[in-house]
Amino acid sequence: MMEEGCIFCKIIAGKIPGDILHSDDRVVAFRDISPQAPTHVLVMPRQHIPAVTDVGEQQGELMGHLFQVANDLARKEGIAERGFRLAVNCGEEGGQYVPHLHFHLIGGRRLSDELG
Ligand code: AMP
Repeated sequence: MMEEGCIFCKIIAGKIPGDILHSDDRVVAFRDISPQAPTHVLVMPRQHIPAVTDVGEQQGELMGHLFQVANDLARKEGIAERGFRLAVNCGEEGGQYVPHLHFHLIGGRRLSDELG
């Protein structure tokens, strides 16, 4: 389940520190170390799924739970009403640097209309 050398697996396992906002049996969320906005939280499965390209029908329930946790955190962060961005980078050109699937929950300021 834990992938050797994966920084997010290490945070999830408590081997390196993270500013953890949510943790349950399937999903963990912690603050991004280099925030792009007042709220910048990473929401991810405990399971080491490398990228969104590894997600299929079988992960349906897990994905639903990820969205639910992201929505709960948006409410807790006070950005649900004003709006926010939930983004998933994939692969080199998509700007994914950590190959452990994660949502970026970003908000608390007016975000750029451009996505890339
Ligand atoms: P991505 O480019 O989509 O793979 O996003 C990786 C994100 O992880 C970046 O926004 C980094 O700032 C963030 N990050 C990298 N290392 C850590 C860490 N140790 N704790 C929290 N966030 C991290």
